[in-house]
Amino acid sequence: MHAIVSARQTVLGWGMAVGGPADVVRLYDPQSAAAVLDWARHHGRTVALRGGGCSYGDAAYGDVVIDLSGMDHILRFDPATGVVRAQAGATLQQIWQAAVPHGWWPPVVSGTMAPTLGGAAAMNIHGKNAFRVGPIGDHLLAIKVVFPSGEHRELTPADPLFFAVVSGAGTLGVITEVELQLKRVEAARLDVWATTAPDLDGLFGFFERHAASADYLVAWLDAFATGKGLGRSLIHAAYHLHAGDEADTGQALQVHSQQLPTRLFGVVPKAWMWRFLKPFSNPRGMRLVNLGRWWSGVLLARDKRYRQTHGAFHFLLDYVPDWKKVYSPGGLIQHQAFVPADRARAVFQALLEMQQRRGLVNWLSVVKRHRADRFLLSHGLDGYSLAQDFAVTTANRAALWQLCHDMDDLVAAAGGRVYFAKDATVRPESVLAMFGPDRLLQWATWQQHCDPAGVLQSAQWRRAVAPAVAMARSRP
Ligand SMILES: Cc1cc2nc3c(=O)[nH]c(=O)nc-3n(C[C@H](O)[C@H](O)[C@H](O)COP(=O)(O)OP(=O)(O)OC[C@H]3O[C@@H](n4cnc5c(N)ncnc54)[C@H](O)[C@@H]3O)c2cc1C
Repeated sequence: MHAIVSARQTVLGWGMAVGGPADVVRLYDPQSAAAVLDWARHHGRTVALRGGGCSYGDAAYGDVVIDLSGMDHILRFDPATGVVRAQAGATLQQIWQAAVPHGWWPPVVSGTMAPTLGGAAAMNIHGKNAFRVGPIGDHLLAIKVVFPSGEHRELTPADPLFFAVVSGAGTLGVITEVELQLKRVEAARLDVWATTAPDLDGLFGFFERHAASADYLVAWLDAFATGKGLGRSLIHAAYHLHAGDEADTGQALQVHSQQLPTRLFGVVPKAWMWRFLKPFSNPRGMRLVNLGRWWSGVLLARDKRYRQTHGAFHFLLDYVPDWKKVYSPGGLIQHQAFVPADRARAVFQALLEMQQRRGLVNWLSVVKRHRADRFLLSHGLDGYSLAQDFAVTTANRAALWQLCHDMDDLVAAAGGRVYFAKDATVRPESVLAMFGPDRLLQWATWQQHCDPAGVLQSAQWRRAVAPAVAMARSRP
């Protein structure tokens, strides 16, 4: 067995606001996963799985944490078919870097390239193209899983259990390998259209008009704007280019051309940039930053079209390394609400007005369009998501958690859901209302089969999902 057991250490969610002490076991080979699960069962310990640790809250934190990021080999990549098979700890960054010189790109990527394939599958991540291509689960050809029951299985979409493990947030088994169908890109860049919407109506109108033609849609929204300007946004729509649309495709598909620059204007190391933002890390400063971003959109980006490499367009959040430190020392939580299309406009308005009334306005809001999918505990639905980053301080913590609970009530009443990858606050009653008793009980049936001793338990699962399952069971 090749595993390293560390001393007890502090393990935090990506947002640095939740987490605590844990025993961390770092694995380097799949066989060790079974051994550690066995050890945990015999010693009455529970285990949370962790990939890149990019989940904002407590999804990858628990009593014993198995860190899978060291199991990161790309096992096979076929440049003719674009099928890649890798160990679960391989990151999106490793995959795109291996694939892009051959004209392939991951079909779904998150706003950062740091997630592992295992973490991406377990949360069934989505990209800015979710409304067109669905979540990453729709592009997985197979996953290899080690279950706490001792069973090892290769699952494909032909197997119903595949749809529970993908989206199951690491609570049914350890994904050790992932096989993914990449997508062909004929050009090295995307054609990007930047435009603005003055309010929520403008924002939703744009998305509805362009969802049939755009390949990617995303909007940044100024949550500080009130009244007639509520929901004003800077929107980016992007379109794939075709072979022959650019002169230098071969060169521009090389990794170094797709890589994000490490210096601003070729001079200032970007690793320093979060320090420049730090003086603005208060509500007044962030109001200014959002205002500045809005006006730069109106004055500079309005209806501008330009070309951007895949790397630069997709991984905007990696542009400023360590930007989350702007939120230190309290960290941040993200609330990402997914709401059916016909209710989304009204619910987003209510969410924004609620936080404005309470003086707890989020500092960064992002809107995306989604489609429904077949995964058991997926966040995906035919509608919109609003992701909101809230700064956590000692003074606002209780009020912020209450705000999230009240926002959850609105989202649940509209038939919406939250996303476990971003969550740090959701209560069991909201999970029950959002996912419904049938899905939760179906998950419990799978758990009984895959992990009868209940070894896999993240802090999130214990806080929100396990009690929701118990509530579903006790319903008449
Ligand atoms: C800046 C930033 C931007 C983001 N943008 C997006 C976005 O655009 N779209 C989106 O969907 N998400 C986004 N995310 C969230 C991120 O994609 C998910 O949290 C993803 O699950 C992270 O993968 P990870 O490897 O870091 O997993 P972790 O955060 O370590 O774990 C995530 C979950 O997967 C489980 N898990 C991890 N590895 C395995 C495994 N091998 N087998 C079984 N279970 C496992 C864990 O137990 C946990 O429940 C973003 C996150 C950040 C920090």
